[in-house]
Amino acid sequence: MLAPKLVIGDLQIYWLNGGNFRLDGGTMFGAVPKVLWARKCKADAANTLPYCNDVLLVKTPEHNIIIDTGLGNKLSAKKLSIFQVTSPWAVIDDLAELELSPKDIDFVLLTHCDFDHAGGIVMLDESGNERLTFPDAVHYVQKAEWEDVESPCHRAQSTYWPENFNLLKKEGKLKIIEGDVEVLPGIRLCHTGGHTRGHQLVELQSKGKTAVHLGDLFPTHAHNNPLWIMAYDNFPLDVIDRKEEYFNHYKNLDSWFVFYHDIQIKACKLDRLGAVDQIHPPKNASLTKN
Ligand SMILES: [Zn+2]
Repeated sequence: MLAPKLVIGDLQIYWLNGGNFRLDGGTMFGAVPKVLWARKCKADAANTLPYCNDVLLVKTPEHNIIIDTGLGNKLSAKKLSIFQVTSPWAVIDDLAELELSPKDIDFVLLTHCDFDHAGGIVMLDESGNERLTFPDAVHYVQKAEWEDVESPCHRAQSTYWPENFNLLKKEGKLKIIEGDVEVLPGIRLCHTGGHTRGHQLVELQSKGKTAVHLGDLFPTHAHNNPLWIMAYDNFPLDVIDRKEEYFNHYKNLDSWFVFYHDIQIKACKLDRLGAVDQIHPPKNASLTKN
């Protein structure tokens, strides 16, 4: 079942099931001691924590936009076991629930290209053949990110998987951008760096309301302290600087911060001191994800 939508002026935001997995708690909180993060998240005996990979669907009056694509359906049995995938990618079914097909998606905005965000760009069809999941969509990626996809460093080789990207160029559906770009009125991509060299945020504005998707700069509400960053971040000091900058900027706009990896809440606002304030969905609404 889908989490309730969030409305930002004329924009409707839905969270689709991009697959759930478990990640090492220590890695998710970098240098933060377990005694501190364990107050917010309960790890299992192997020290792992549950996370989702929520694909965002943004419906404007004219267009349908996907932000990040989830784990996809191409993971081998070995990878499903390594990443402890606890629930499968169900984006196509969730779109159907909203009476949409993959061909209805006009834009795919990629915060970055790690497998957990880019895994759903290419999917396996019923015959086991690879195809673009959203065949008519233009896929937006930062230039620095695409350079690293094409020529990954040793560390990035384990997370930029060629099978997630091989059809994009071939089918002419890749749009490489540099810096900050307005995709549609009120929908903006801004290059952030930090987590990866070409990481970008997605800003959504309509009728004086704002929501921002900070990708892996703000993966869950438990990362609201700018110093609480992940060991996965490639440029940690940049992440801290960017978080301080964006938290201040978007707090002043009374913006919603929407999450990709948070199994507990889908979006929140931050108060003046940076504490998690209003949440979506509200506490009395139930979420079914494990
Ligand atoms: Zn991620």
